[in-house]
Amino acid sequence: MINFKSFLIKYGEIGVKGKNKFIFEDALVKQIRFALNRVEGQFKVHKEESRIYVDTLSEYDYDEVIEALKTVFGIVYICPVVQFEDNGYEDMAKKVVEYVGEMYEDKNITFKVNARRAKKNWPMDSMEINRELGGEILAAFPEMKVDVHNPELLLNVEVRKHINVYSKSIPGPGGMPVGTAGKAMLLLSGGIDSPVAGYMISKRGVELEATYFHAPPYTSARAKQKVIDLARIVAKYSGPIKLNIVNFTETQLYIYEQCPHDELTIIMKRVMFKIAEHFAKESGALGLVTGESIAQVSSQTLQSLGVINEVCTLPVFRPVIAFDKQDIVDVAIKIGSYETSILPYEDCCTTFVAKHPVTKPTHEQIARSERHLEEKIDELVKTAIETVEVVMVEA
Ligand code: ATP
Ligand code: MG
Repeated sequence: MINFKSFLIKYGEIGVKGKNKFIFEDALVKQIRFALNRVEGQFKVHKEESRIYVDTLSEYDYDEVIEALKTVFGIVYICPVVQFEDNGYEDMAKKVVEYVGEMYEDKNITFKVNARRAKKNWPMDSMEINRELGGEILAAFPEMKVDVHNPELLLNVEVRKHINVYSKSIPGPGGMPVGTAGKAMLLLSGGIDSPVAGYMISKRGVELEATYFHAPPYTSARAKQKVIDLARIVAKYSGPIKLNIVNFTETQLYIYEQCPHDELTIIMKRVMFKIAEHFAKESGALGLVTGESIAQVSSQTLQSLGVINEVCTLPVFRPVIAFDKQDIVDVAIKIGSYETSILPYEDCCTTFVAKHPVTKPTHEQIARSERHLEEKIDELVKTAIETVEVVMVEA
């Protein structure tokens, strides 16, 4: 295996952003640097000729670097690249043959050379480079065969400021670099769905802040730690998350005392949304994010979602709204949150849940019940907001 000194970072959608392209590229560079902070070694991340490169300046662990880069939204492919000075064709051919020799132990493979010439004054055009290099490779390794349609080895040779040789493209996560699409407030619980929802929104370039409602002593310190751990897993992809931990006990007990129990979940969610929206507006977040999915539970029927939603003026984004549970679980496994999410815990919504919650609440019905809260609810919400505990969570 070659000890690669550089990685070429390929990005997709950013490429089509026209005049604003540099904003996306700069955000991507920043996020790559951020992800590499977790990896031992020194790295230089830089733009050159509309491309992003990660140069390694010290010893490093290849797998760790790839793992870190795979968490950076905006990256479509990670290509370990051999880069050298342009000293003309002879020198290039020698190095390309060396590359193939070292990179592929088993030479019983088909290949194709894919040359690109960014320097238009270079003496050979890309067709000539393909042909000549193909010939040199066949001469050096007679077991290899050319296949121009479906080669096992696609050997990319780029003549730019430097010469780049690469043949491996490791898929990145795709999406857009975090920080290019504003900020949103994730309602993060200890379940499977909300961490996945946060990951998905963040994948589109949205920075995250989060709010968690706990109800000590009905929910334990372990349940709270679990949410912090989940935030840390999401932060691996999204960057640091400011987590607001709201003590919801008094509010919840009051709702429990005053309102019909089959409506508790709906009314509690409405208050949770209002508080989360307060923090969102305070910090410039442009929407709320939840892990709700249609019909998963009684509070996620279209009627319930509608009645919960109406307390907010900010848009509520629900990226897993049409996902089956298994589809959500698949993403949770992929991003590494599943194992933590399935640890046993108490949730403040389930502690007080009724046996037969309403599934078709109406606005009038809930508004009528909430009238019983008028005396104390504003004060309780105010206290909940004022006593928030803020934790900065980093991967
Ligand atoms: P999850 O798996 O994310 O917990 P869920 O399927 O258990 O979701 P609910 O408990 O009905 O569904 O919650 C729906 C959404 O409301 C959650 O995805 C989350 O966004 C938000 N939510 C629920 N409980 C809390 C909480 N204690 N703190 C913050 N947000 C919460
Ligand atoms: Mg839950």
